[in-house]
Amino acid sequence: MKQDMTEVELHTFSGWIDPPTDLQPAVAGEVTCDVAVIGGGVGGMGTTMRLAERGQDVALIEAEFLGYGSSSRNGGHISGAPGGDLRMLKLFYPKQMKGMVVLADHAAEYLQGKIRDLDIDCDYVPNGLAMVAVSPIQMLRVKACAAILRSAGGRGKVGTAEELGIPRAFMGGMIEGVGGMLNPGKMCRGLRANLIASSARVYEQTKVTDVRRRDDGKVVLTTPGGTVVAAKVVLSTNAYSGEWDIVPERLSIPAYLIEAETEPIDPKRIEALGWTSRTGVLSQHQIMEHFRVTERGTIVIGVRRVQRGTSYPLPQDKAPDPDLVKELEHAFHTRFPSLSDVRVAQAWGGWMAITSSWISLAGKLQDNIWYSICCNGHGLAQAPYIGSLIADNVVDGAMHEDLAGIWLDEPKFPPFVLMGKAGLRTIWAIDRFNDLFNGHKRRARRAAEAANAALAKA
Ligand SMILES: Cc1cc2nc3c(=O)[nH]c(=O)nc-3n(C[C@H](O)[C@H](O)[C@H](O)COP(=O)(O)OP(=O)(O)OC[C@H]3O[C@@H](n4cnc5c(N)ncnc54)[C@H](O)[C@@H]3O)c2cc1C
Repeated sequence: MKQDMTEVELHTFSGWIDPPTDLQPAVAGEVTCDVAVIGGGVGGMGTTMRLAERGQDVALIEAEFLGYGSSSRNGGHISGAPGGDLRMLKLFYPKQMKGMVVLADHAAEYLQGKIRDLDIDCDYVPNGLAMVAVSPIQMLRVKACAAILRSAGGRGKVGTAEELGIPRAFMGGMIEGVGGMLNPGKMCRGLRANLIASSARVYEQTKVTDVRRRDDGKVVLTTPGGTVVAAKVVLSTNAYSGEWDIVPERLSIPAYLIEAETEPIDPKRIEALGWTSRTGVLSQHQIMEHFRVTERGTIVIGVRRVQRGTSYPLPQDKAPDPDLVKELEHAFHTRFPSLSDVRVAQAWGGWMAITSSWISLAGKLQDNIWYSICCNGHGLAQAPYIGSLIADNVVDGAMHEDLAGIWLDEPKFPPFVLMGKAGLRTIWAIDRFNDLFNGHKRRARRAAEAANAALAKA
């Protein structure tokens, strides 16, 4: 059934949660602190939390409210593997591969631990994340990635759809051995509440418009209501990082990704798909499609198209383009024809940083300004984990092995290839072209017949 997109609620924030009603005060006048963290996503919150735990005088400065950025808007998959195409990463960065795999695994463990220790109510289900194949070619890619992951010390189990309990519309896949899925909006709300209750000072509604080092070495942050003077600063602004002169050229580019959520679905219909594990699934297209069930009985569908931001400041009031939402709904109905009457009810999007290497990065600018970009689709666990490692580095110079693996002493970055409008369009077209011949529609139809038969029997 084709849907009129005017019936879909298109959000400029997130569909996972509403904005908080207890906004914290903005910076007014001059604020001084030992460490200022700019950006209150999971990265900045993880950094600040650790700095506060270590007794630092820390202030967190956020343009809107903690969790405003991609941290509350993403698909909610906690992955225990690096983002991007592992075959390409191995080809271009063989020496860093092991470090990236171990970092991703530790990051998932770290976030699981935080959710448990802080008792954060975020619907976390530790059922892994599955890389899945819609075709034999994609299955070869899954197997190649699984071999790379395991040889670098990662965890993953390869199997058919039946063996893994993933929808029959997929040939099979690999379920990662750590991680799972959660409601990212609720997770950010939980982290935010913990931070507000901590010794850290939290300033919301405060956009930093400039970052400069003074002659005495202190760093001065300019904001509309005043200044923040800090001995040390951590930049944790992800997609928005290119806004200041101080940021290295080509650190990252901003990409806008969207998520769409269906109306509630009868759980029996979801089970009839063969989705017994309820594990979230990511297809092996060049630009993935992902699908996951939620605690509210819906399915969230993500990505398939990437829009590149071309200038700063990034538009804050951007809602998803209805045509892209329509495309996600089409992808959902193509993979799951037995749910072709189920409609998308809401959609939202967010800005995420992509690095040209597809590797998470961290480093220092001058002596007392730290930065990190934990991105490429798997930052939900990596950003707060790396943030906590950066905090330790800020306090006493500690260099954890996982941080050392992504640390850059000289922040020089290669140019971005294929990330222009034409490049992204070409990658998308290659995915659609491959879909013409890979038999995925036939497989999805057979899966739908099996689902309908299972429902008739129940
Ligand atoms: C649609 C979508 C789906 C995704 N799905 C997944 C997924 O399933 N799993 C996964 O692991 N990752 C996923 N990601 C990526 C993940 O969300 C990010 O990597 C992660 O949230 C990055 O966290 P962060 O704290 O670095 O950035 P953000 O959450 O973007 O936080 C940056 C913060 O900085 C603030 N800020 C910016 N400029 C300023 C300024 N000048 N002054 C003050 N504050 C400022 C912003 O308001 C924002 O709150 C997805 C991303 C998107 C967009």
